[in-house]
Amino acid sequence: MTLTIDNITKSYPSTKAGPRLALAPTSLTIGRNEFVCVVGPSGCGKSTMLMMMAGLLSPTDGQVRLGDTPVTGPPAGLSVVFQDYGRSLFPWMNIRRNLAIAGQAAGLPRAEIAVRVAEALTAVGLHKVEHLYPWQMSGGMQQRVAIARALVVRPDVMLMDEPFAAVDAQTRADLEDLVLKVRHDYQMTVVFVTHDIDEAVYLGDRVLVMQANPGRLLRDLPIDLPRPRDQVGTKLEPRFAQLRSEIFRLVMRPVEPAA
Ligand code: ADP
Ligand code: MG
Repeated sequence: MTLTIDNITKSYPSTKAGPRLALAPTSLTIGRNEFVCVVGPSGCGKSTMLMMMAGLLSPTDGQVRLGDTPVTGPPAGLSVVFQDYGRSLFPWMNIRRNLAIAGQAAGLPRAEIAVRVAEALTAVGLHKVEHLYPWQMSGGMQQRVAIARALVVRPDVMLMDEPFAAVDAQTRADLEDLVLKVRHDYQMTVVFVTHDIDEAVYLGDRVLVMQANPGRLLRDLPIDLPRPRDQVGTKLEPRFAQLRSEIFRLVMRPVEPAA
């Protein structure tokens, strides 16, 4: 399903100075199975844009559509993975129960939930530890659980907000490859917010570069690196270096003052 962002803006009610424009008018179309990464400095509206795509925040103006349907609340077939895995899992439930909850929330029948939980655990390589509790696992493993939970509804679209910002480099590389694998297994569209430019180029079919004050879309760059991607090989390609420096320059560009 196509995800359409049609001229959305977001103003937060704020200071004495009046409402604050967090996202200036933004339009884009994300095709089925596309992997779109979003980069930009802190405060440029990445999370705001993602939460509007998720139906968790309503735009001040404009409209988000999934297929032909306007998004006015969290749509079926769309999952979100947040950075803060520590708070997104229930500590008193084991891994299997944490996943089953997502199936229950989606109103799936019991037998179907069991099938999908097993499928999701296998997809992320956690089928042997489903009886563990989140607090018995490392941060990277917990984030794997959060990804598996997002998969239980077999989403068409998975939105991820800086999901790997809090894990070490090795774990992060593993999780990046895991996301590429599950995106392929489940044939999903992925929108992935990160402040790591290398990560964005490594993962994406496209990289959206945003700028702050007010938050806005600066560039939409196609990433023409071949797939499958490889943590060593892809990053050694001259084209990888070219793309990362192009994006780096855009992100580092001095912010133009708001009109
Ligand atoms: P990013 O994810 O790129 O760091 P955000 O989308 O979180 O940016 O924030 C964009 C802008 O909106 C920032 O200036 C931030 O301070 C402001 N903002 C975000 N959430 C709120 C809120 N709930 N109320 C007021 N201002 C907010
Ligand atoms: Mg953010």
